[in-house]
Amino acid sequence: MEDLKNNTLRNKRILIIDDNLTNKAILEDLLDAGGYETRHAMDGIEGLHTVFEWKPAAVLLDLVMPGMDGLEVCRKIREISLPVRPSVLIVSVKDGKDTIVEALSTGADDFIVKPFNESELLARVRAQLRINEFYRELEEDKRTLETIVDITGALSATLDSSEVLSVIVNKVAAVMEAVRCSIVLIVKDDEGYVLASHEDPSVRELRIDLSRYPEIKEVISKKVPLALGDITNHPLMSGVKKNIKELEGMSVLIVPIVFNDEVLGTLFLRTRRREGGYTRTEIDFCRVVANSSFHALKNARLFEKISMEKDYLKEMAVRDQLTSLYNHNFFYSRLDEEFERAVRYETPLSLILMDIDNFKNINDTYGHRVGDTVLREIAAMIKKGVRKTDVVARYGGEEFAVILPHTLLKGAVDEAERLREIIESHVYAGLVTEKITMSIGVASYPQKASINSGDLVNHADNALYKAKWSGKNCVKVADP
Ligand code: GH3
Ligand code: MG
Ligand code: MG
Repeated sequence: MEDLKNNTLRNKRILIIDDNLTNKAILEDLLDAGGYETRHAMDGIEGLHTVFEWKPAAVLLDLVMPGMDGLEVCRKIREISLPVRPSVLIVSVKDGKDTIVEALSTGADDFIVKPFNESELLARVRAQLRINEFYRELEEDKRTLETIVDITGALSATLDSSEVLSVIVNKVAAVMEAVRCSIVLIVKDDEGYVLASHEDPSVRELRIDLSRYPEIKEVISKKVPLALGDITNHPLMSGVKKNIKELEGMSVLIVPIVFNDEVLGTLFLRTRRREGGYTRTEIDFCRVVANSSFHALKNARLFEKISMEKDYLKEMAVRDQLTSLYNHNFFYSRLDEEFERAVRYETPLSLILMDIDNFKNINDTYGHRVGDTVLREIAAMIKKGVRKTDVVARYGGEEFAVILPHTLLKGAVDEAERLREIIESHVYAGLVTEKITMSIGVASYPQKASINSGDLVNHADNALYKAKWSGKNCVKVADP
């Protein structure tokens, strides 16, 4: 049914201005059945008042009425300043060409001659409401463009990021008729900070627990805007349903502020729209605005602090605490990557595994703390002794690994031998006469029976085992 499409209309109000109650009843029945909302006015004055107050999308207007006639009413409607121009359809028994021409030139949009055909009348009303919807969209576009210009002006007028963010939330709240509009900085999985909020201008850095905002978490993971009508009944909100009872009938719109594929923050809007639904224009508008807040967000004091913490935590997660070398986990993931790259681009890849000889004795003789110092010194020497592109990791307690991309076996053995000599000749703080030596195993790709990074580790490990067995303090390569 065509009338189902009326659901997409946001204004379905139709005002009937007619002094004849029989005509009024017929039109009302017809329009009610078509899913429209109707009101009735007996004369021009009442009609104009209702147009002003109720803002119908269309007016069905009789021509011959006591007092002000239909043409006069039509002229006056066009003089009232309204947010969206209503359509005026004249419904009249007068069917002379001159009357029709005059009505249309007075500002009427259509002329329907009585007696009318019901489905034709409905079709004409529908067509007018569609046009009315276009007018409404045009008005919205105009308003959003004006707001964008305003915001851009505000952005260039101030460098203070909290001021910029507060201009943004206030303008957006006004355009979108939001009851709540804020910009939230995303810090961690469940941690966010409201940096600006239109309903409370004093808010600067209010910490919020994102586990209570599944709608924000959804946007963080999907990285696209999310609009939810009637949030209290939305499945996404089922986990927090009891906390949001008072938000009955409200809708939310959340737009991510994305940089480098990461959601830095969100523009968060709550509106009192029972029907829910945001137009494409509104969502696009919020997107543009959300993007324009990006620099302000990045410049916010808190952002600076948090990104440093984030970088630090990221770094900590891959580093070994004692030596600051990469840890075991990072070693494996990096080796996987390098192995894949080597296979794909047919480049060589080598791996050195090193194990300190008789390290237990050092601990037993000098104590664990001296042992730690030795590990740190060895780590520093290895780091210093390899090339920039090599990746050094603490592979185990007193075991180290070096990944050598683009390196053939020969080059890796040379490097291993150099490292062995450096370590052997070094004088260690706190050790009296002891030398520290290392046994080293080297393996390379391509080599038969090396089809993944695990094979490469096994080959290097076997070579290391050989080195131990042949008396330690030497470099051995994996069996060809
Ligand atoms: P091998 O020549 O056969 O490698 O003999 P080893 O004594 O080096 O080997 P083993 O595996 O028997 O002992 C390794 C020692 O390394 C035991 C352990 O206490 C020590 N170790 C591992 N991690 C640390 C650490 O973080 N600090 C200190 N001080 N010692 C460590
Ligand atoms: Mg060991
Ligand atoms: Mg050892």
